[in-house]
Amino acid sequence: MQEWLYLVIGLAVVGVLAIAGFVGTRVRRPSPPKARTDVIAPPSETQAPPAGDSAVEAPPAEAPSAEAPPAEIPSEPAAPTLERPERPASRLVRLRQRLAGSHALGRGLLGLLSRDRLDEDTWEAIEDLLLGADIGVAPTQELVERLRTRLRVEGGQAPDTRAVLREELIDLVDPSMDRALKVSGDGDAPGVVLVVGVNGTGKTTTVGKLARILVADERTALLAAADTFRAAAADQLATWGERVGVEVVRGPEGGDPASVAFDAVRQGMDRGVDTVVVDTAGRLQNKQGLMDELGKVKRVIEKQAPVTEVLLVLDATTGQNGLIQAKVFSEVVDVTGIVLTKLDGSAKGGIVVAVQRQLGVPVKLVGLGEGPDDLAPFDAAAFVDALLG
Ligand code: GDP
Repeated sequence: MQEWLYLVIGLAVVGVLAIAGFVGTRVRRPSPPKARTDVIAPPSETQAPPAGDSAVEAPPAEAPSAEAPPAEIPSEPAAPTLERPERPASRLVRLRQRLAGSHALGRGLLGLLSRDRLDEDTWEAIEDLLLGADIGVAPTQELVERLRTRLRVEGGQAPDTRAVLREELIDLVDPSMDRALKVSGDGDAPGVVLVVGVNGTGKTTTVGKLARILVADERTALLAAADTFRAAAADQLATWGERVGVEVVRGPEGGDPASVAFDAVRQGMDRGVDTVVVDTAGRLQNKQGLMDELGKVKRVIEKQAPVTEVLLVLDATTGQNGLIQAKVFSEVVDVTGIVLTKLDGSAKGGIVVAVQRQLGVPVKLVGLGEGPDDLAPFDAAAFVDALLG
């Protein structure tokens, strides 16, 4: 009987040890490496997982068990390979074919102006073409007037139509405007670029593309996801930033946009970053709301560093609607530059002229596609050359 008792006790002990061993193995087995989700978060210190988590996520410090050979121990996740964005200078030339819609304007004008006789019907057709491309009434009349004068054949040699048209179009687009992006601050302060515009115009995409332009120019940058009303916008920015090693400062969804902007600029200063680019909310609910929100964002930023550039993003395909948006925004903030997106899908290249005239502010960048480097610094002569093919 006693032997039976010893046998039962012995079996029980072996069973308990076996279970303990199994559980112990499970606990010690290192978990797979955690996917890197957060290049986006500002300072790396704030991204360390909370202490409570780390015990679960990290492999134990002691020697691994036989079930977990050293090769399987998760190490620090490999840094993602960063992309090398294209230098800005070559972009407009590379993208000139994308102005297909606007080429029609250039070709159409050349075709009409090359007719043997420039009669009234021809001039009217030229005017219609210009108005149809959204150049605007006053610039159209000015251009037609200049062309009429210069292309009048007065006895001597016929003028070079193409050369005259090129000169006059460049003049209209105004090569004298200063289109340099003000992305540097004074002294220790970073340059601060505030990006404004209505949702859907391509604002967030433009901020992402701008980060790539800055990186291509060998600048350090930080992005602020101050459109806190759309979590998707912050995620979108995070993806853009991750690809080129630019971090994104974001706040809680629905949080105060001004506090995100403030935080980003503060971190930019602390870390000696060259440029902070701030994406803003673009809900055109009413002018007062917009004014309050953008005004506050700008004021709060300027407690630390001046805003060096306010870029208004406009969708070139929206024509007159874009011009109305431009007017509203320019009354709310001092716009210093215009980004015209979606020029690749538009036959309305003339909006470049119209919007510059309306705001007295230069187009500084043009969006010519959905590719990451399809945002180009604008240049009057290169643009006109692209129009004329
Ligand atoms: P947001 O709401 O103003 O922030 O707009 P998004 O940045 O989300 O862009 C809206 C859509 O426009 C996206 O599908 C972009 O890929 C697209 N988009 C932005 N810029 C351009 C451009 O220059 N050309 C084309 N074809 N699409 C663009």
